Amino acid sequence: MENLKEILDGRHEYAKDWKKRTGGKVVGYYDVYFPEELLYAAGALPIRILARHEADDNTDRQMYGNCYPTRDMLNQFMNGRYDYVDGLIDIESCQWWHNACSTTLVNFPGLFSHYFFVPDYPDGRKSKDVMRSEMGVFKTRLEEWLGKTITDEALDHAIEVYNTNRNLLRQVYELRRFDRSVILGSEAMEIVLACQVMDKAEANKILEKLIPELESREPHGDCVRLMLVGSETYDAELEKLVESLGANIVIDELDNGSSYIWNNVIPQKDRLMAIGLRYLGRPHSALKDNVWRRRPERIYELFEDYQADGVIIAKQIYCHPHGTDMYAVWKLLRERNIPYHTFERDSTMPYEETKLGVEALINMIKPGMTRLYGWSKA
Ligand code: SF4
Repeated sequence: MENLKEILDGRHEYAKDWKKRTGGKVVGYYDVYFPEELLYAAGALPIRILARHEADDNTDRQMYGNCYPTRDMLNQFMNGRYDYVDGLIDIESCQWWHNACSTTLVNFPGLFSHYFFVPDYPDGRKSKDVMRSEMGVFKTRLEEWLGKTITDEALDHAIEVYNTNRNLLRQVYELRRFDRSVILGSEAMEIVLACQVMDKAEANKILEKLIPELESREPHGDCVRLMLVGSETYDAELEKLVESLGANIVIDELDNGSSYIWNNVIPQKDRLMAIGLRYLGRPHSALKDNVWRRRPERIYELFEDYQADGVIIAKQIYCHPHGTDMYAVWKLLRERNIPYHTFERDSTMPYEETKLGVEALINMIKPGMTRLYGWSKA
């Protein structure tokens, strides 16, 4: 555990060291629809650009109305934190990610860059053909940039490494279930975030040792079990705050939490199609949940599976995908009498204010109060 947390906290040093050790290129991406396997098969290291708040004297001049995570991302580039990155991939996704990426590229024109179109309607009839075509174009660009051919064997290896990582992280999530809850929400979040900024093969080795250690822990005592929903996250501060109040976040539905690991690549002869289908088939982000509105039901399914008592919806300020999607989540939670608390955050969480709201939710859920307010825990 310490190891993964150290890597998450020291992610820049880790990536620089990886470059030195392997001689490979490091490529950043913002959005979780980026098919990392293709880049990994090319021998490069895909890393998720994660927000980290620092005093910001840069972004106001360059971006207007962006959510804070994307401001932080640009700010970090401007402050030289990502000076080791060789390329940046822009994905068809929310406009603030796109804006942050293109503004970064205006400031750093020397970076390798590519715009990858991921269909906004993943269930659309033509989406898989479009995705396959985009995969092919990206493969050619990578081969030209790196001066090498990406072979089927390399793609198979990347698929294997990534699927193994998802399987191991799913095992970590299994340890959050009610019958054997041995891991805190903050620990789980730090593990899954660490895996997004490091070589998955190295992460797998750490996880293979870590999981038996976690399994041998004594289960935690019972406490209020919460689910976290909303915009993606960059640290485990909210989970820690919840734990300080005697509750635990036992499951999340976040783009870079459970949704990052929930489905695998199903191998097929056409490797690029196989990888593309995995990304189209991942749990829909709020932005791409356009046709069938699957997210609310998925949230409910996870809520039930992990026997949560209530839901925290943490939306980043100015996050339009989650702002427009939230009505559907609220509707479902109300219809099913699930207590929830919604709040807006930016990359620096207003601690006292957030604590007050979460505390109120926990108090409502606690036995007695729950019945008083008419919520059934049966
Ligand atoms: S927090 Fe919301 S608006 Fe900001 S990058 Fe993420 S999805 Fe886009």
